[in-house]
Amino acid sequence: MSIITNHVPTDELQALDSAHHMHPFSTNDELGKEGVRVITRANGVYLTDSEGEDILDAMAGLWCVNIGYGRDELADVAARQMRELPYYNTFFKTTHVPAIALAAKIAELAPGDLNHVFFAGGGSEANDTNIRLVRTYWAEKGQPDKNIIISRHNAYHGSSVGSASLGGMAGMHAQGGIPIPDVHHINQPDWWAEGGDLTPEEFGLTRARELEEAILELGEDRVAAFIAEPVQGAGGVIVAPDTYWPEIQRICDKYDILLIADEVICGFGRTGNWFGSETVGIKPHIMTIAKGLSSGYAPIGGSIVNDEIAKVIGGTEFNHGYTYSGHPVAAAVALENLRILEEEKIVDHVRDVTAPYLKEKWEALTDHPLVGEARIVGMMASIALTPDKASRAKFASEPGTVGYICRDCCFANNLIMRHVGDRMVISPPLIMTPAEIDEMFVRIHKSLDEAQAEITQQGLM
Ligand code: PMP
Repeated sequence: MSIITNHVPTDELQALDSAHHMHPFSTNDELGKEGVRVITRANGVYLTDSEGEDILDAMAGLWCVNIGYGRDELADVAARQMRELPYYNTFFKTTHVPAIALAAKIAELAPGDLNHVFFAGGGSEANDTNIRLVRTYWAEKGQPDKNIIISRHNAYHGSSVGSASLGGMAGMHAQGGIPIPDVHHINQPDWWAEGGDLTPEEFGLTRARELEEAILELGEDRVAAFIAEPVQGAGGVIVAPDTYWPEIQRICDKYDILLIADEVICGFGRTGNWFGSETVGIKPHIMTIAKGLSSGYAPIGGSIVNDEIAKVIGGTEFNHGYTYSGHPVAAAVALENLRILEEEKIVDHVRDVTAPYLKEKWEALTDHPLVGEARIVGMMASIALTPDKASRAKFASEPGTVGYICRDCCFANNLIMRHVGDRMVISPPLIMTPAEIDEMFVRIHKSLDEAQAEITQQGLM
């Protein structure tokens, strides 16, 4: 069928989509009736749909298109690599240049002794690798019972059975028999929603100390690792109070617990440093990477592992790997993406120019009647919608009802902004210009005003 090359009317594409394509995280029947939006092209921070509308993508796809859309260099590298060596694996005493070069480059960029990379197809696979890595590590060290991984409620670590078990999404745990055994969840550091009467500082310490309580309850000799996103992304861009991370680091050090930083969103410039761990001041033993590694131009992820873990794992046959671990085309594309990030000083520019500009405007959103707190780190940010700021009140409606209305207003105004419950989040391409930020705020204000009118009309506020 020539559907890819010929112009096909939007309604025909929607009908075919509804008949044959199952969408992730969607109610497909409803979606089919409503009709999906068909995205056909993209450039810079803008998407274009099949009706020719230009849409401002404040989510960088799924938090991933860090260098923005439409960079020909990546397309050229991919074409060249496909002609030269489209595929080979690294399982059986072989390797190839893109995997070697990318692993070396990542080791150079990653802090401290994080010098070794195990490649995967994306973040979920990389976190599955991490489960097996840390358990194998402790088994090789003679402690096979040290296999429990502690994570957090409302964390997102992926959609595979292993990674969704690490994640703390209640809706995901309600389907398909997860979590797997020996994963334990503690509470998240979301002061706005759960802080009660505590100050953010007190609350940060209280939530961090839940890790210590869990270790003492489960047994130090049973807990292998703690995994967390430096800034929770899919959970609603939850920024921990300043007291949280130093306490987590202290506890991991004290009890000899491996610290895994899931950098799938935070990595590669999103927080204004190369890695979110640097922004929050932690020293993980393992980092999960994906998304910004290739700016989403090709599917690739991985686990960056420190010298000690690599040494221990290196002493045994690690029976693990994916057909597409270190895929040469994806690796070559990722390498080119990192070259652009580095040579064009995009991370420095985010830290020094773009993020401060965005922050000032973002924090001013709390002037809007619908907006309670505004949180922002680098180029990831969230606002909490509330019927009453002073008491940090939640809406009486089912959580997410108001967020959904607001998200639809954004969509109607050609702005992609996501809702997580009743929080609105953004994670724009890092190359967004001040003028584009201004344009984004025109659309955000219009959408918030319209959402407020709709919510009021529906009697939800
Ligand atoms: N970890 C985090 C922190 C993520 O945000 C995501 C994806 N949103 C994943 C893991 C899973 O990555 P993937 O979808 O590439 O499997």
